Amino acid sequence: MRWHKSNERQTIITIDGPAGSGKSTVCKEIAKKLGLIYIDSGAIYRAIAYALWNTEQITTDCNGKWFPKITYGTLSELPLKFEAKIGSIEIYFKGNILASEIRTPEISMLTSRLSKLKPIRDFANEIQRKIASKGSSIVDGRDAATVVFPDACLKIYLTASPEIRASRRLEEYKSRGVNVTFEQVLDEIKQRDLNDTSREHAPLKIAENAVIVDTSSKTIHQVVDYIIKLAKEQC
Ligand code: C5P
Repeated sequence: MRWHKSNERQTIITIDGPAGSGKSTVCKEIAKKLGLIYIDSGAIYRAIAYALWNTEQITTDCNGKWFPKITYGTLSELPLKFEAKIGSIEIYFKGNILASEIRTPEISMLTSRLSKLKPIRDFANEIQRKIASKGSSIVDGRDAATVVFPDACLKIYLTASPEIRASRRLEEYKSRGVNVTFEQVLDEIKQRDLNDTSREHAPLKIAENAVIVDTSSKTIHQVVDYIIKLAKEQC
């Protein structure tokens, strides 16, 4: 692996896959080991949804025709700031850092519904590319390999069964004190899979030249070591 000088192309590794496949844990670990910027695109989409909700641009519930006409202008005026760090991304809303408030089940579902809108996808893509221009990066995404960074030197598609992904997400919710059942989380995962794979703009799909890694019966270390080995060969 090498860091590229500012006038050369940056090294980009993309890790796409459905909710709960282990992307964020794997990306954070690889970012730390290889000294890469970690672009958590899910957090970017979540922050946009959170900011739209909290600036009262979405006022009805999630079942009807609830979203207003969101334009690029609306989005660029949101009080959000994104700061890239080695191994992490910091997102600020009205000057305050966002953390667990963007990871509630309600914001997960809202994000999943809003992320099908083209202006939101264009805006989120631009943020990701701006961050990546600052240094070699690993991107945790859904369409990182197919749309945002088609020239990435290594494209991974992480996956696992819905049940395994739901039990991982349940543990994560429990560790943050969120009170949900396994069945609720499994339903959430399946609904988000359906939203992600069936949307018109940039649906979740496996890039042609991606390496598929099923994490159902692998440890984090096995997955991380395997991806680092591929990165050293290809990037
Ligand atoms: O990865 P995470 O679960 O944080 O993503 C939250 C939601 O944001 C996903 O369910 C998906 O709908 C949306 N998303 C997306 N494209 C991305 C990343 C996330 O549509 N690149």
